[in-house]
Amino acid sequence: MSARVIDGKAVARQVRADVAAGVARLVEDGAAPPGLATVLIGDDPASEVYVRNKRRACVAVSMKDLHRHLPADVTQREAAALIDELAADPQVSGILLQLPVPGHLDADALIASIPASKDVDGLTTASAGALAQGRPGLRPCTPSGVIRLLDEYDVPLAGAEAVVVGRSVLVGRPMAQLLLARDATVTMCHSRTKDLALACRRADVLVVAAGVPGIIGPEAVKPGAAVIDVGIHRGEHGLHGDVRYDQVTEVAGLVTPVPGGVGPMTIAMLMANALQAADSQHQARK
Ligand code: NAP
Repeated sequence: MSARVIDGKAVARQVRADVAAGVARLVEDGAAPPGLATVLIGDDPASEVYVRNKRRACVAVSMKDLHRHLPADVTQREAAALIDELAADPQVSGILLQLPVPGHLDADALIASIPASKDVDGLTTASAGALAQGRPGLRPCTPSGVIRLLDEYDVPLAGAEAVVVGRSVLVGRPMAQLLLARDATVTMCHSRTKDLALACRRADVLVVAAGVPGIIGPEAVKPGAAVIDVGIHRGEHGLHGDVRYDQVTEVAGLVTPVPGGVGPMTIAMLMANALQAADSQHQARK
């Protein structure tokens, strides 16, 4: 049996179309178009590509691209002053600090000064706390993209056994919280988990975000499970994930490819977050 393959590109396209429609509605309601401030510090080529893609996506949904670029040798004080300026600017609905920042800067301190209402990456302690306490707020883009994929493919979450491999602040932890908020029974695995395959085999929904190429094979997958591969690795033969896709498709019921699975969802959900932020700010000003 071969698993159904999740088409992340198609779902991401739909999310972007929904966001574009939402932007139009917001403007009709008298709001200024949402503005997304991506902040790039330094000249890391990979970060430049990520930021360029985010800016393009922003323009494509008729949001304002309020990008700012700081030189690699900027001081902590100067970087913090920019975040404060963007935080106070009513044109800016969302602020995204592209990570990693140059080593001499304290990224945590910079992120901490982003107001929760503009935290479109969902990475501040306030946003993480709101998620953990089940309060409304902006959620990290990659895990909320995973939930959207599972919903689009009608994967039941309430009461499901969900296993998340990885416990990073960016992916694993918020992923587990989002699944918990949807009433899944959640197990979190990490590098100290004793028998990873055993833990994963209980999963109806298995989300893998370990950053280890091919760490999950068919021995770790319950027959019929939904397997979501967040990992991205560039190899000799192009991109691949944390899941041994060719083998796992023989066991799983539903699976994401790499590329074309979770990847396209991250920027789409960033656009959705920017719209949500702008909408909340507009309602608050009314
Ligand atoms: P990370 O910060 O390196 O975290 C990796 C997590 O996996 C850690 O919690 C680590 O456990 C755990 N882990 C490492 N080796 C393991 C093992 N052998 N068994 C079980 N768990 C293990 O990575 P991340 O930022 O969460 O990213 C994970 C992957 O997703 C990467 O490949 C990244 O490129 C990709 N990613 C993709 C997107 C996207 O848009 N598709 C977005 C973000 C990230 P410990 O906590 O014990 O160290």
